[in-house]
Amino acid sequence: MKTINDLKLEGKRVLVRVDFNVPLNKSLEVTDDTRIRATIPTIKAIMEKGGHPVLMSHLGRPDGIRNPEFSLKSVVAKLEELSGKKVKFVEDCIGEEAVSASKQLGNDEILMLENLRFYNEETDGDEEFARRLSENGDVYINDAFGTAHRAHASTAIIARFFPKSTAAGLVMAAEIENVGKVLEQQAHPVTALVGGAKVSSKIDILQNLIPKLDNLIIGGGMAYTFIKAKGGSIGKSLVEDSYLETAREILKSAEKQGVNVYLPKDSVNSDEFANDGKRSISDAGAIDDNLMGLDVGPETLEEIKPVIEGSKTILWNGPMGVFEFENFSNGTKKAADYIAEATKNGAFSLVGGGDSVAAVKKFNMQDDVSYVSTGGGAMLEYLEGKELPGIKALN
Ligand code: AMP
Repeated sequence: MKTINDLKLEGKRVLVRVDFNVPLNKSLEVTDDTRIRATIPTIKAIMEKGGHPVLMSHLGRPDGIRNPEFSLKSVVAKLEELSGKKVKFVEDCIGEEAVSASKQLGNDEILMLENLRFYNEETDGDEEFARRLSENGDVYINDAFGTAHRAHASTAIIARFFPKSTAAGLVMAAEIENVGKVLEQQAHPVTALVGGAKVSSKIDILQNLIPKLDNLIIGGGMAYTFIKAKGGSIGKSLVEDSYLETAREILKSAEKQGVNVYLPKDSVNSDEFANDGKRSISDAGAIDDNLMGLDVGPETLEEIKPVIEGSKTILWNGPMGVFEFENFSNGTKKAADYIAEATKNGAFSLVGGGDSVAAVKKFNMQDDVSYVSTGGGAMLEYLEGKELPGIKALN
């Protein structure tokens, strides 16, 4: 796949699909600028190569209606602050005004177009809309890994209007490279820690990963479905009864392929789903009828510590317990510590998928792992082995 470094950009209008879908407060100020910050190196690289960046993004779900609450005008001040460049804004993403603004961009200027999703044609993947968007650039770059799993006009369809001048931005290239390190060029032992709430949302990932793994550590709420499937008593713990058979099949498949599976040995329980619930520890398969497991216990941690610390490739998806509750966050925090230790000793560690990313941020450990994916749902589909339309279009 071509990246930005493979294209000549001197004097060209570089149309970049970014992911500026950022949270805003009531005064329409950006409250978390992670996604804007992540794109700055791509924007700077374009400008250093003499290109003029024209940025397009979605923001929220305006559902085809022009609504000032979802205007990308709200990101302009933040973008100017983070890039140190003048940012011009056009109140449309297609049409004469946008095209002419793109042609008039000065050397040190960035153009931000209005929200793509003010048109339903964006999410419909409409070809004519994609063609009109393409008029805003001479070159097309996709840097929005987070929406690469959607076949939208600006992420997948538009590339056909730039047959020779399409490439991945630096965020997109980094995501693909780092997930690739887990999926392909692995140093063994390879260990996956999979946790979070539901087995049902992780089946495809587990099935795709098992053939590549040496160790599979299962924690979080989903572990109790596995424990019940093996005949354990799990009290009021989270369970998906319709997935007991699936859980058994996953365990069987792992065993067949020589993967060491680690299910929690012990469980930190509570009498209610609350931080100040009454805590107790029991065998993970012998939880009292009126208790629920909210975290993995000390024996479990003792068992998985050397497994994680001895690994050379680590993928972490999903917390080991209800880490949002201070009193039940120990298992997730300790798992993060072991991953950090392995990373210090040369392992490659990737944290990907919603809540484990939130956990790493909460513990302020982003710099202690090799790579934290910003991809969310796109990252999960990539790990599931699916072909993402936004990546396919770049090839
Ligand atoms: P997921 O989005 O599937 O990765 O799930 C993340 C959520 O799972 C987090 O909000 C955790 O609080 C929750 N979770 C983790 N462990 C448990 C548990 N033992 N019981 C209930 N919820 C849990």
